[in-house]
Amino acid sequence: MQKRPHDSTAAEFVDLNFIQAAHDLKLADDVTELLRVPWRELQVAVPIRLDSGQLRTFSGYRVQHNGARGPYKGGIRYHPEATRDEVAALASLMTWKTALVDIPFGGAKGGIQVDPTKLSNAELNRLTRMYTANISHIIGPKRDIPAPDMGTNAQIMAWMMDAYSRQFGHNPAIVTGKPVDLGGSIGRESAPGKGCIFALQKWAELKNIDLSTKTIAVQGFGNMGYWVASAASKIGCTVIAVADITGGTYNQQGIDVAKLNEHTKSKSPLGKYAQGETITNEELLSLEVDILVPAAKGGVITTDIADRVRASTILEAANSPITKEAEEILEQNNITILPDILVNSGGVIVSYFEWAQNIQEFQWEEERVERELLQRISKGFADVWEESVASKITLRNAAFKLSVEKVAKAALLRGFV
Ligand code: NAD
Repeated sequence: MQKRPHDSTAAEFVDLNFIQAAHDLKLADDVTELLRVPWRELQVAVPIRLDSGQLRTFSGYRVQHNGARGPYKGGIRYHPEATRDEVAALASLMTWKTALVDIPFGGAKGGIQVDPTKLSNAELNRLTRMYTANISHIIGPKRDIPAPDMGTNAQIMAWMMDAYSRQFGHNPAIVTGKPVDLGGSIGRESAPGKGCIFALQKWAELKNIDLSTKTIAVQGFGNMGYWVASAASKIGCTVIAVADITGGTYNQQGIDVAKLNEHTKSKSPLGKYAQGETITNEELLSLEVDILVPAAKGGVITTDIADRVRASTILEAANSPITKEAEEILEQNNITILPDILVNSGGVIVSYFEWAQNIQEFQWEEERVERELLQRISKGFADVWEESVASKITLRNAAFKLSVEKVAKAALLRGFV
């Protein structure tokens, strides 16, 4: 591999994985080019009045990477680092993710470069409505269906749905991850985290590993991190450390995830949790633990820390948490990586269920949501495992290979003249 002067960005890493898959599949150069570039990108100004009366203009994006297999699908991120390049990389990752778990969508991602914690609820509401209005001509229930991601949540999806419906008529299928009272799917909020644990269970079953003897450390205690930690402890893993942007807490005997969640409701930092010792994020990433779960932002495991990671398995709940260069070090150190594209697909799978329920104006029971989520993740994992064993490639390379093959087939079948 050609040496780069820095750790790969998320965009570079997704692109490298795609190129590797295209090479493994012996795709022609023209097909590779068709699948590599985003099919549409939109940058919008998002001007709002702050509560102080000051006018602020934020940059917003929606990147539709590939729509060969169905309407574009992907989350909306509110984060200071939600740049065009990051959004484009995540959009491409969505194309491969939806194909891998066989849901009839393409890939997209959106974002606003903003720190949502610095805005009031009223400001966030105005920001979301302005952004929705400015991208409304390229989204739609059969065109492009946004969902929550980092910094956004069910309330923000409700505002998006309302803004869109005011313009085009009542339309719950325009976004997923809505509150259940507005047509959201039961089980959508917990799906990304539970899905990661379903994937971990499938891997343990294939490797004959007893998860009830394993320790786990989770970086991130938002939607993803909380549900990963909660589901992990329910299946008997011992959660020994949790961190978020404020720092972390560590207890070798195990952390009561529900109690820790109660603690965060008082807005007190995780490091101040009375039943644990304070640790930094860096300490969490290099803890002596069986399973390390990055579940916060991307690019946290770089060459600076990779050699100090002591976990034997990394469950990539976050999107693109490891750089390419760090991955090489982890592989040399025999650390197994369960890749994001596969393990964190629970969110988009249940988003698909939500969209299907909205189109049919019908609501599923929680039991059906969980059962079908488990089936899809387990099948996806088994397919990737089989390909990885048969072709002697990593789980990540196998996952990209299977998904790029499906998207290439769909794109070519649609016909280009
Ligand atoms: P969230 O906004 O609910 O939570 C993010 C968490 O990360 C918070 O606890 C925050 O404190 C922490 N964090 C942010 N920056 C950090 C830093 N520099 N160091 C340590 N912790 C930091 O977001 P989420 O929905 O939980 O998403 C987390 C990750 O999971 C993202 O990478 C996202 O793309 C991925 N993901 C989310 C979903 C979903 O549906 N929620 C689905 C698939 C993947």
